[in-house]
Amino acid sequence: MSNIQEQIRQRVRTLLEEGVIGYCIGWGATRFEDKTTPVFITKPEDADRLVWNKYCINGTAKYLLDDWYPEKKIGVIIRGCDSRAVNRLMKDKQVKREDLYLIGVPCDGKENPVCEGCQHKNPLVYDELVGEIVSESVNPDRFKEIEEFEKLTPDARYEFWAKQYDKCIHCYACRNACPACNCKECYADQARENWQGKQNNRNSNQVYGLTRAYHVGDRCIECGECERVCPMGLPIMRQTKKMLKDINDLFGDYECGLGDDREHVLGEFDLSDRDEFM
Ligand code: SF4
Ligand code: SF4
Repeated sequence: MSNIQEQIRQRVRTLLEEGVIGYCIGWGATRFEDKTTPVFITKPEDADRLVWNKYCINGTAKYLLDDWYPEKKIGVIIRGCDSRAVNRLMKDKQVKREDLYLIGVPCDGKENPVCEGCQHKNPLVYDELVGEIVSESVNPDRFKEIEEFEKLTPDARYEFWAKQYDKCIHCYACRNACPACNCKECYADQARENWQGKQNNRNSNQVYGLTRAYHVGDRCIECGECERVCPMGLPIMRQTKKMLKDINDLFGDYECGLGDDREHVLGEFDLSDRDEFM
């Protein structure tokens, strides 16, 4: 059992015993050795169900949306990416800082391809830290895949995405896992006529996918959850990465969920903005 895991269990047990938190969101074991599952620990004696290992992959912050009016603070175990998701939810006014008790754990990388390019292993916001701060590195290849894709002709790019959306089963898993997809009512769930098609066909799937990408394009924290949960293997993160790359090209260095004020690029305007397209 890892030392970090034991420390997490002890802290959660104590926080529950002292009544600081009502429950804690973390990871628990499953019957598969290489899988964990999000768990909600409500009793001190259950704190030993928490695990910390290389298979703690699911984002924990999204579950905060399931409890709008908590009676006590919600404890959440957060890595760097989860802390960005918490910042995302706070910035979007979906959760309040005073309702949260954040147990930060510097991340050593998980069995998840997106972790290879991670630039924020340490939590950016927390109430207490378990473990030691780890060194960070800048990923020089952050947009490499997008740069390669941009070299294709418009027809080839369209063909690529058309084939991808032919595979999509319109299941909304990408939306459900995404911390930036946090509207209490999603446009995709509207039942009104001529709003958003529910059919599973290329056109309807593309409209859904591209609209979602635009909705989260300047708020994506690059956690990779959308892509990880897609049952059909669509490389959907490429869409938001393209948006982030364009924002970086147009406005300078830009990352979301860092807790600073420089966000919502697509939701603001300034009279000095470039407008040569007008
Ligand atoms: S990587 Fe995907 S799941 Fe994560 S914030 Fe961006 S769009 Fe949402
Ligand atoms: S998770 Fe994949 S299959 Fe499901 S709606 Fe999103 S892109 Fe389509």
